[in-house]
Amino acid sequence: MAIISENEKKPFWGYRNTQTRYAMTYVVITTVVLLILNIYCSNISQRLFCQSKEAAMVEKCQLASDEIATLDVLSPTTVAGIMGQMESLTANRVIVTDQGGNALYDSGGEYVGAYVLFPEILKALDGNDVFSWDYRDSAMFSRAATPIVYYGANVGCVYMAEHDTSQGVLLLKLQGTVLRVTLMLEVLITLFSIIFSRGFSRRLSKIMRHMRTIQEGDYSQKLNMGGNDELTVLGNEFDDLTDRLQTSEQKRSRFVSDASHELKTPLASIKLLSDSILQYDMDLQTVREFVGDIGDEAERLNRMTTKLLSLTKAEGLPDSSESEIIYMAPTVRRVARMLKQTALKAQVTFQLELEGDSPVLILEDDLYQIVFNLMENGIKYNIAGGRLTVRLHRQEENALLEVSDTGMGIDGEALKHVFERFYRVDKARSRATGGSGLGLAIVRTIVQRNRGTIEVSSVVDQGTTFTVSFPAFDTEVDQV
Ligand code: ADP
Repeated sequence: MAIISENEKKPFWGYRNTQTRYAMTYVVITTVVLLILNIYCSNISQRLFCQSKEAAMVEKCQLASDEIATLDVLSPTTVAGIMGQMESLTANRVIVTDQGGNALYDSGGEYVGAYVLFPEILKALDGNDVFSWDYRDSAMFSRAATPIVYYGANVGCVYMAEHDTSQGVLLLKLQGTVLRVTLMLEVLITLFSIIFSRGFSRRLSKIMRHMRTIQEGDYSQKLNMGGNDELTVLGNEFDDLTDRLQTSEQKRSRFVSDASHELKTPLASIKLLSDSILQYDMDLQTVREFVGDIGDEAERLNRMTTKLLSLTKAEGLPDSSESEIIYMAPTVRRVARMLKQTALKAQVTFQLELEGDSPVLILEDDLYQIVFNLMENGIKYNIAGGRLTVRLHRQEENALLEVSDTGMGIDGEALKHVFERFYRVDKARSRATGGSGLGLAIVRTIVQRNRGTIEVSSVVDQGTTFTVSFPAFDTEVDQV
């Protein structure tokens, strides 16, 4: 599984697999930590051995120095005599020198009469207690030397050397045990790292595979990540996102198919009418009628595309920042003036009850579109001699706009769909009145964009009432 993008920098150890990378990282870190612990344990154990050795050897040297210091004359004979009495002093090698480093006594018998200038002896002759050690061939070699002080002056030194295999073996055993434990821990940690990183990387691969499926446009699959870590949260968020994508994709394709279907109808009529003119011999009057019909269909196409544009624009726009606090009554009057002729033709009378007007925060163009669409419908779907009432009033914190007519009404089932795009209760009548089924969808989108709500109630053959509600903005109370 290569889940690292191609242009990502390759790590210095060259692995491009997340699982291996994680496992390697854990192993490297733990190896370093265990190595440090191992070295530390070895050093500590060695130091503990040395400290006890140093104390014992320096004490033995001092004991011998003190005894020799009781002699009036330091000579090979006197020193050998006193050393002979100190049988309890056991060491592999004991050398006693005078203040010039000349050996007066050597348990090995090798150096008597010769200068023995070992570093430990030189330091002891300077008046220091000395201890040194090294470790070779599984044995510990330790050396100690102390000065012989006679009435405040250094008159020589005692040097002892020991090599200790049993302690060396003990130390080696201890270090071996630490090393074995370290190696076992290392193996365990490596195993755990591989198991853990494999689980992690498997979950990541699952997300990656799912992303590819989504990229290919299949939104039906769900990730359903188990567990309860960050990857689970990521997976669930991704599933939510996929749901939203699926919904918006369904909306988009429905919109495209609905729109193309709606646009096709007038286009087909235009084609049919123009073909008829071309194919059949017609008198001028019929040709005029046909051309008139073509003009009507073109006009309908024009209206529909304008509304479609207006709807797409309304849906795409964020909440308007150019909104202002305005009263609704002037807009209602303006729309009433615009629709006066249409209403006259349809024999519908207006009744405007605008006294209960309250200011609302809205873009004037938006308010105009809402009022225009609702009032135009109130005329279109009214009866001859009917009435269209527009009422503005206040209900608690809300400013309400009510548009009611005395028309044909809408039945309960159709009422659920009137705000959907391209929905028309009576297609024939709607077409006859130039309807596109987009007006109410536009109204609802604009209302919601302006923090408002819209409701409809209707009684068949009695009339319909649309109620739009916006938060009322009383400038002295509310902040824009
Ligand atoms: P249209 O352009 O067809 O009028 P609308 O979205 O404005 O589209 O309305 C959708 C449908 O709702 C209309 O076709 C009509 O059937 C119904 N309708 C809308 N307003 C009214 C009303 N005031 N009275 C009765 N029916 C209405």
